[in-house]
Amino acid sequence: MIPDITPVNQVDWDRAGGRWYHLPFTYDHTWGRVRVPLYVACAAQPGATIVAIGGTHGDEYEGPVGLKNLIRELDPARLVAGRLIVIPVLNVPAFRAARRGSPLDGENMNRVFPGDASGTITQRIARFVTDEVLARADVVIDLHAGGAGFEIIRCMSFHQVDDPARYAEFRETSLLFGTPFVLIYTGGMGTGLLTGEAETMGKITIGSELGFGASTDRDGVRWAQGGVLNVMRRFGLLAEPFVDLVPEGLDRQRIVSATDIDRYVTASVSGISEPLVPLGAFVRSGQPVARIHDFERIDEPPVEILADGDGYVMCRKFRAATEQGEVVMVIAEEVD
Ligand SMILES: [Zn+2]
Repeated sequence: MIPDITPVNQVDWDRAGGRWYHLPFTYDHTWGRVRVPLYVACAAQPGATIVAIGGTHGDEYEGPVGLKNLIRELDPARLVAGRLIVIPVLNVPAFRAARRGSPLDGENMNRVFPGDASGTITQRIARFVTDEVLARADVVIDLHAGGAGFEIIRCMSFHQVDDPARYAEFRETSLLFGTPFVLIYTGGMGTGLLTGEAETMGKITIGSELGFGASTDRDGVRWAQGGVLNVMRRFGLLAEPFVDLVPEGLDRQRIVSATDIDRYVTASVSGISEPLVPLGAFVRSGQPVARIHDFERIDEPPVEILADGDGYVMCRKFRAATEQGEVVMVIAEEVD
């Protein structure tokens, strides 16, 4: 049974064994408290600290479900060294509302890092994560999905980094999840990302897209749970062999890169989008990949959208209604 609430300064980060907490964050306009769930498990021996977080966005479910399964099924006595910290649902108000951002302050948790201790509720939760959780971490895993907006290839992901040793560490850690793709993306997508903050703090930092459509993908859940366990094996928390999570029949895991945000394919006009290629397809530069229909001009042909390079279709707009400038597709080229 989880204690009702535990003040954030009373979390025991170090004692051997596993424990659950509900951390209270005061609402901005009432005396009530949002309760953020936290799990901490420590081995008797010191070692690496692995942090796994789900529900940074409230309409993404593979991370929360996989991490909840993980901490319920993990016997802390299995840990031979180090520490595991899990927050299955970070943005609790957004999760409750099944929305990407918080209905309480309108904030997107993944744009407010490092957070602000005297800011709105989302900013205060982020500040706690930065100071108390990320600061303790060696490895940070932030589990996302496409949410309601994008149909996306299930992948682990990390930011492009220049240091070859860091790149190799990010790459190897990502591959342990067994996803068909590992996506290298740009840090220039936005400011205030949880992963951006963790990376700046020098942590091995991995993201993911494990499903889409505000649904719960079965493989995505398996990769979330099994992947974190594999990372625990890699960093010495568990003295066990890796479990191969790569889907049966897959020829190889592909490492692809989409680091130039100017090359994300956007809609030239507003209308109803029609994809012409399936997710995961390999496309050639200049090939029509989607078109936009104007239903006020049914006599007019749709506007074709062309691939701007060779690569795999990583992501497409899921909702048909499309406004000019929205990303309709992301094409990533295989590297490495
Ligand atoms: Zn997300």
